[in-house]
Amino acid sequence: MRSGRQPLLLAATGASLIAVGALVWFGRGVVGLGGQADARTNQSLLELLEEVGSGKGRNPLARPAPPPPAHPSWRSPLQRSCAVADGPLRQRLAQRLANLESSSTRVRIHPTNYGVRYQLDAYGNRVDTTPQVVVLHETVYGMQSAISTFLTPHPRDEDQVSYHALVGLRGEIVRLLDPSKRAFGAGNSAFNNRWVVTNPKVGGSINNFALHISLETPTDGENAGPVHSGYTPEQYDALAVVLADWMRRFNIPAQHITTHRHVDLGGERADPRSFDWAELQLRLESLGVLC
Ligand SMILES: [Zn+2]
Repeated sequence: MRSGRQPLLLAATGASLIAVGALVWFGRGVVGLGGQADARTNQSLLELLEEVGSGKGRNPLARPAPPPPAHPSWRSPLQRSCAVADGPLRQRLAQRLANLESSSTRVRIHPTNYGVRYQLDAYGNRVDTTPQVVVLHETVYGMQSAISTFLTPHPRDEDQVSYHALVGLRGEIVRLLDPSKRAFGAGNSAFNNRWVVTNPKVGGSINNFALHISLETPTDGENAGPVHSGYTPEQYDALAVVLADWMRRFNIPAQHITTHRHVDLGGERADPRSFDWAELQLRLESLGVLC
């Protein structure tokens, strides 16, 4: 699920534009910007254009974005550990990490099911698009079913869904989106009092600064029950390797690996069910990313 896609595009460049004193604002899904004009009457148009054109600092037309509703902070089950024992597990995972690119499959999903990371929120505030949190999911149905969904064009916002990666029951890694893209993995959501509102009609979401990865659910979990038999050792291996890669590339702390269940503000999501954090702890520790 996703949280809106109305982009905010500010076009204000060029000498001719300055000459006629025109500041042009294009904004789909932006409401109430007219009131901002009064607040900037003391600032010359040229100054405004320079600020906007430089791409730095605060957008002079921005207004405060609403904060997410009260939501508990994430308490990570992962513990800091620097005790890395060399052994078969470490060797196996290190080798998998070294061959991550060549050992994973790439699937190009339909463009309706993902987007770009927005530079500005719906209120004109510049937002950090660097991935800062990883959300764990499960597919509920088999991996092929999930992939079919992502390949299918979904014109309606509410049907659009995607993750950056999938991990199959045999440990196979399927990469669906480059981390620079915005996966539609969580709808109305927040993490540690943060969200980005890109469409005020549907509230905020963490998608703009999140990476999403989903584990294939075992067949006894193809239902709405609270638990299932859990994930395979091969899945925990593959998951740890992808997480270690993302943690290193984007400097994401282990405390920012969370679950869809936690970030969901609607209280409807329970995934990933039956997730064993001790299995992940063991592997991330072996990869040396919990130190
Ligand atoms: Zn989910």
